[in-house]
Amino acid sequence: MESSAPSHGVCPVCGKKATLKCGSCRREFYCDKSHQSQDWPRHRSGCIAWKIGRDPELGRHLLATRDLAPGDAILSEAPLVWGPSTHGVAQWICVGCGSRCDDVDARCRGCLWPACRPDCEGLSDKKRHRSECALLARARIIPRCEVLLVIRMLILWRTRSKRWTSLAELQSHESSRGPGTEAHAEVTRISQHLGPLLTMASDCWDILPKICGLIDVNALETMPPEGSVAIYENASLLEHSCVANTRHSFRIDDKGRPRIAIYAVTFVKKGEHLSTMYTHALWSTRIRREHLLATKYFACRCKRCADPAELGTHLGTLKCPCKKGLMLPNDSLDSDTDWSCNVCPGTVTSSEVAQLTDRLEEEVTGVMKQATEHTLSELLSRLTVLLHPGHQHCISVSHSLIQLLPPSSPQKSELCKLILDTVTQLDPYGARLALYTAVTLRELASCPGENKRAHLSRAASLLKTEPPNSPGQKLLRLIEMEL
Ligand SMILES: [Zn+2]
Ligand SMILES: [Zn+2]
Ligand SMILES: [Zn+2]
Ligand SMILES: [Zn+2]
Ligand SMILES: [Zn+2]
Ligand SMILES: [Zn+2]
Repeated sequence: MESSAPSHGVCPVCGKKATLKCGSCRREFYCDKSHQSQDWPRHRSGCIAWKIGRDPELGRHLLATRDLAPGDAILSEAPLVWGPSTHGVAQWICVGCGSRCDDVDARCRGCLWPACRPDCEGLSDKKRHRSECALLARARIIPRCEVLLVIRMLILWRTRSKRWTSLAELQSHESSRGPGTEAHAEVTRISQHLGPLLTMASDCWDILPKICGLIDVNALETMPPEGSVAIYENASLLEHSCVANTRHSFRIDDKGRPRIAIYAVTFVKKGEHLSTMYTHALWSTRIRREHLLATKYFACRCKRCADPAELGTHLGTLKCPCKKGLMLPNDSLDSDTDWSCNVCPGTVTSSEVAQLTDRLEEEVTGVMKQATEHTLSELLSRLTVLLHPGHQHCISVSHSLIQLLPPSSPQKSELCKLILDTVTQLDPYGARLALYTAVTLRELASCPGENKRAHLSRAASLLKTEPPNSPGQKLLRLIEMEL
C-alpha cells in the first residue's frame, strides 16, 4: 500500500507543489508545517484516525493515530457482505434491498424468495440479488431468511472473490465451536436448510463451520436496515470493551449497502485502542462476561470488569444479611470467585450469587409482564432488601416504575437520579443508552422543582443521532414539541 502512495501533491492552502505528507492519513500534502497547521481545522474531519495493530493475544485490532475528541469521525466503510440476521428473524426480509417485507406475497420472480415489492430495484441489480438469484432457483432452497447470509458467503468463497480473502482473515474461533457446542448444533441446522445446495456442491460442507463462525464473531447488527447484519473489513476489527470509546451508525449508500460510520465518544489519546461494546451496557459484570465468553469466545478484562463495584455503579452488588455491609466479588475477573461482605466476615460462593440473582431475575421478568405502579413498587422494596439499589435488577424495575409514578411522588425524582448516576458512569456520552437515558430525563423533567428545560434539552441532544423512524427519533419529536 505504501509503495503506491504518491510522494508529492499540491498544498491545499497556497496551491504550490508540496512534499510534506500528513503523518496520519498520508494523503494530504503541504508546502510547510505552518500551512499544515493552518489547514488542520479543515483537514481534521477527513484525516484517517486509525491504523491496524497486531498483538499475539488480541490479534488484529484498531489503534488511534491521533488524539480524538467526542464526536470525531474515525472510519466509514461499506460491508464486505451483509444479509438478514442468522438468529431468529421472525419477519421476512427482502432479498433485493434488505428492508422488511410487509406484503408477504411479493416475491422475486426468479427464485421466489420474499421481496418488498415485485419491482424492488435490488432484485435486478447485478451486484446485489441478481448474482445469487440463479443459484437459489437452481438449488430450490426453501426460502428462509436466516440462511441467506451463509449462501452469500458461500458464493464469495466459491468464486474466490477478493472480498472472501478479506473475510477469511477475520477471526472465526472454530476451535471453540466443535461438536457438543451450541454453535456446532447451529451449523448442522443450517446445513439441513441448505440441503439441495450442499448436494450440488459438496465441497461447501467443509467451509460451512468457518462461515458460521465468521458471522457469529464479526457480524454487526445494522440499523438501517433493521433485521440485517453485516461484516466489515476494518470496523469488524474493533475490540470489545465494557467502557467502549466509540459508537457506530449505519446509512444505506448509493449501492444499497449499509455503510458503517464510527465515531469517538470520549477523548481518545493517540496510540490508544479503539473499542466497541458487544453486550448490553446495563448487564452486570457476571452476566456480560458469561455472554462474551459464550458468543465471542473471550474473557473481558477491561477496567469495568476488573472493578468489583463496576465503576461505583454496584450493578452486581448484593446486600449482606448482616444488614450493614455490601457483598462484592473478591476477584471480579474470576468467575468462580467468592463474594465477601465489606463489613462483617461473611462470604458466599459465586454459585450462590448466581442462584439468587437468577431467581430474582425470573421474578422481575414475571412482574414486568403485567406491571402496575403497585406491583413494581412492591417488587422494588423486596429487591432492595437483598440487592444494592444500583443493582441491574433494581435499575431495570426502577426504569419502568418512574414511567408510572405521578410527578408528585418524591420516589420518582429519587429513582430518576439514581438511574442517571448509573448511566452517566457507564455511558457518559450517551453512545449506547441514549433512549434509556432520554426517557429518564423526560420523567425527571416532569417532577416539581426540576429544571424542566435543561433536562429536556439534554434528552433531545442525546437523541440527535438516533436512526430515522426509530423509537428514539419518535421520542425526540415529542420532546421538541414539549420544548
Ligand atoms: Zn502551502
Ligand atoms: Zn491527514
Ligand atoms: Zn426490496
Ligand atoms: Zn431472486
Ligand atoms: Zn469488560
Ligand atoms: Zn456483612
